[in-house]
Amino acid sequence: MTDDGYVKFQVEHRPGTVPWTAALAGLDGVRTELFDLGMIGVYPNGIGYGNLSLRDAGDTFIITGTATGARRELGPDGWCRVDGFSAEDNRVRCSGPIAASSESMTHGTIYQALSRVGCIIHVHHRRLFDAMLAGSDPRTAADVPYGTPAMAAAVAALVRAIPEPAGLFAMAGHDEGVVAYGPDPAAARHLLLTRFLASSGALPGIAGVPPAR
Ligand SMILES: [Zn+2]
Repeated sequence: MTDDGYVKFQVEHRPGTVPWTAALAGLDGVRTELFDLGMIGVYPNGIGYGNLSLRDAGDTFIITGTATGARRELGPDGWCRVDGFSAEDNRVRCSGPIAASSESMTHGTIYQALSRVGCIIHVHHRRLFDAMLAGSDPRTAADVPYGTPAMAAAVAALVRAIPEPAGLFAMAGHDEGVVAYGPDPAAARHLLLTRFLASSGALPGIAGVPPAR
């Protein structure tokens, strides 16, 4: 631990495979849709953003691998399973063809806090993020630094205060960061895209999402 209390993220990765299920292939499709909308990608500095996950058994989950933001489609080699984690120690244990990113801590925290959540989508989007902060949308505090045990605790407290096992919130201390979650990918996607449309005016061509009010 350094002087400012920041606990460095540590990942213990074991090479292996992740079963390519219909559910995972479906989530890969949702990811491509979000990639095309600019919610997943790579910043000019080369840092990727955005990640999706699906609950596996217990609090384990399958999540998009680290540094995959440039790829429009991932397929079986772009995902890994998080087998265990400690938000307090900022440490993740994972297996698969690729390692998990530090953002997997946020996902794990929500799965642990809400047993009925089955899918989590984390994206970055300037306009959506700004609209959420300007509105009354749930958010973690701006002074909670991202990728820290403090952020994990803030996320757990926030999602426990949202009544349904589905929700959408902004991370004010993580620029452009938005998280949607629900019992399944369709529910999380619907929440995210509905708010996205409301922030941008109706865009045609997004199937299954009602027009903005
Ligand atoms: Zn992020």
